[in-house]
Amino acid sequence: NSPQQDLQRRSLTAVWHPCTQMARAAVVPPLPIARGEGAWLYDFEGRRYFDANSAWWVNLFGHSDAGINGAIKQQLDTLPHVMLAGCTHEPAVRLAERLSARTGGALGHCFFGSDGASAVEIALKQSFHSWRNLGRGEKREFVCLKNGYHGETIGALAVTDVAIFRDAYDPLLMRAHIVPSPDSRLGNEADALAAMRALLAERQGQIAAVIVEPLVQGAAGMVMHEPSYLKALRELTREFDVHLIADEIAVGCGRSGTFFAWEQTGADWPDFILLSKGITGGTLPLSLVLTTEEVYQAFWSEDVTRGFLHSHSYTGNALACAAANAVLDRFDAGQLAANREQADLLAQAFAPLAQDGRI
Ligand SMILES: *Cc1c(COP(=O)(O)O)cnc(C)c1O
Repeated sequence: NSPQQDLQRRSLTAVWHPCTQMARAAVVPPLPIARGEGAWLYDFEGRRYFDANSAWWVNLFGHSDAGINGAIKQQLDTLPHVMLAGCTHEPAVRLAERLSARTGGALGHCFFGSDGASAVEIALKQSFHSWRNLGRGEKREFVCLKNGYHGETIGALAVTDVAIFRDAYDPLLMRAHIVPSPDSRLGNEADALAAMRALLAERQGQIAAVIVEPLVQGAAGMVMHEPSYLKALRELTREFDVHLIADEIAVGCGRSGTFFAWEQTGADWPDFILLSKGITGGTLPLSLVLTTEEVYQAFWSEDVTRGFLHSHSYTGNALACAAANAVLDRFDAGQLAANREQADLLAQAFAPLAQDGRI
């Protein structure tokens, strides 16, 4: 047996692969990867593969990026991890400050999680708990968009509308409201907003928050909408006194042309922005929940139980924060302009296909 086949066999025996029907994996076994460099993955037999989905959308600058790796190595020799309750550390503080600055201070309070789904759980809990602390505990319903995706833990799945991930667990899930989503190709923005308004009016006083993927519904099949939808949604959620959660786990970190997709709306900031995936450039799990002074103040009290007591063992992991700071260094050094150049090149390269009507 080659090392390649050997690893496949052992993986099928011992590893339960994610998002995989293992009976199918037995027929089409997982691809053993020996190393990654730039846009390429290499197997054990010297073949290389172009990583076109960036390792599930997490990789921003290619595999084995020297800058990010260097930052992690340096942090590893100093402080790999310490608990973030009762202690603090420089990489977490600096990361929180830098993300706050990118919102002009509007989202100045940063809570750390480990995966995208944990960021969604945190935002849902913070939204509900802040209303509860303000004496409005009846605001406990959530609104999400048709075909939206926010992760696969029980709370995140409750605001996710992708049947293949959701159906088996439906009996376990909190009941969220699912409203029509905008799709630029269909020109249905006004209808989507009217449906949202009708729901917010009907459930007035009962809704804690609306959660959306700004500009692009990724898992829905890259379904796009205009910034104008988000601007109108921000106004609607203000009118009905409902939090707005912008899940930028996929679209943030420069993926949509600005660091936060929200920057393109020209609207007030949402109450929460969630980041994960690209924030460590595809090296380590980390997620962030950025929120406002208003939400933060709702928890400020002599009473411990009015605080946000949520935690994960690896909350604010120093290695992951060091990687994220190295990613932000790249954006500070003009990464967005480089992204735009690449986007122009790709658009030119694909133009002939568009003319043929093939894309
Ligand atoms: C990937 C993703 C999540 C979930 O993140 P995980 O790290 O996979 O838990 C949530 N929301 C959006 C928009 C995503 O793309």
